[in-house]
Amino acid sequence: MGFLDISNVTKSYGSVEVLHQVDINVEEGEFLVLVGPSGCGKSTLLNMIAGLEDITSGDISINGRVINGVHPSKRNIAMVFQSYALYPNMTVGQNMTFGLEMHGVPKAERDRALADVSKLLQIEPFLDRKPGQLSGGQRQRVAMGRALVRDPDVFLFDEPLSNLDAKLRVDMRTEIKKLHAKLKTTIVYVTHDQIEALTLSTRIAVMNGGYVQQLGTPKEIYDTPKNVFVATFMGSPAMNIVPAKVVPQDGEPHAEIKKSDGTTAHLKLSQPNLATWDGKDILLGLRPEAMTDVDGADKNSRNIVKLNNTVDVTEPAGSDTFVTTTLGSKDVVARLRADVEVYAGQPFEFAVNMDKAVAFDPQTEERIEAE
Ligand code: ADP
Ligand code: MG
Repeated sequence: MGFLDISNVTKSYGSVEVLHQVDINVEEGEFLVLVGPSGCGKSTLLNMIAGLEDITSGDISINGRVINGVHPSKRNIAMVFQSYALYPNMTVGQNMTFGLEMHGVPKAERDRALADVSKLLQIEPFLDRKPGQLSGGQRQRVAMGRALVRDPDVFLFDEPLSNLDAKLRVDMRTEIKKLHAKLKTTIVYVTHDQIEALTLSTRIAVMNGGYVQQLGTPKEIYDTPKNVFVATFMGSPAMNIVPAKVVPQDGEPHAEIKKSDGTTAHLKLSQPNLATWDGKDILLGLRPEAMTDVDGADKNSRNIVKLNNTVDVTEPAGSDTFVTTTLGSKDVVARLRADVEVYAGQPFEFAVNMDKAVAFDPQTEERIEAE
């Protein structure tokens, strides 16, 4: 049992079930990120933890106590929203301690909490300002401060960085990570941004259509995605999914794929149990970084396959060059080193790191696990 237990939880609005049998155990001090496309049920789940939405069935408990019927104010949970709505007429300091005052916390204690938290978040210089006199990033920090002064058991965030510009979002991401390293408070954090999920979390729940598709560490999710949805949602550019057929060659399973010139290539599979798929179709999953130029190939890989194929598009991106080529009649993105000479319309020798390839069942779209 975890610190925060979400056990067989469903949510219906009228006759429509929007969350289905969600099971997530969060250990104390974990940073769990709920990630998924818009409408998949992230906010609904977070709001049920906070007590802002009823639980249709199942249980949520904190520290062994079922909180289904407990009033939000009695859950010792603090929440930071995307629209953090600070009171415009109150100072920063008043905004941060207002909630404590409402809870009847004595002034000396409020002042101590305010001093601690404003030092931690480096907002001491603005305590007497009004929110209108702050930048977006400073306001976001005040909103976090308002939640932190309560010293909650669990900290909930709902897309807290979505309203900030790209640069500030990256800075605040680092700040939140530092804050968690210092405080070690249990965090459940909602975002639709897969990069935010991978960089912030200790574990990720990838959601789609009201289901938790996979729950795991960022590395598990990235390296061994449970299905095609998780594989293509997490990572940018997305994992390439190439139709292939498993054929034996020298007694070992190979992926047969159609090249852009109409001939076929045979890529030796690193996963021996795919021999049982001989003669069958699979979907081969190749991340862009698993297809590179020969000199840039991973020196630790035991299975680099060279593959000559025509380049369709080149996209220099500063630190890397992304190249689009056609495999199995699909556009496939490869990630080359920036200084590699590569031209659209010309053949190029790619190095495919088959140790990093994953295979999916084309019927169920589930990953075929290595044994
Ligand atoms: P997310 O936060 O992942 O974008 P939500 O949790 O807000 O998704 O919504 C999940 C689903 O529940 C959506 O299909 C949404 O339309 C539906 N939904 C959310 N709130 C309500 C409500 N109050 N009444 C009816 N349906 C709702
Ligand atoms: Mg939402």
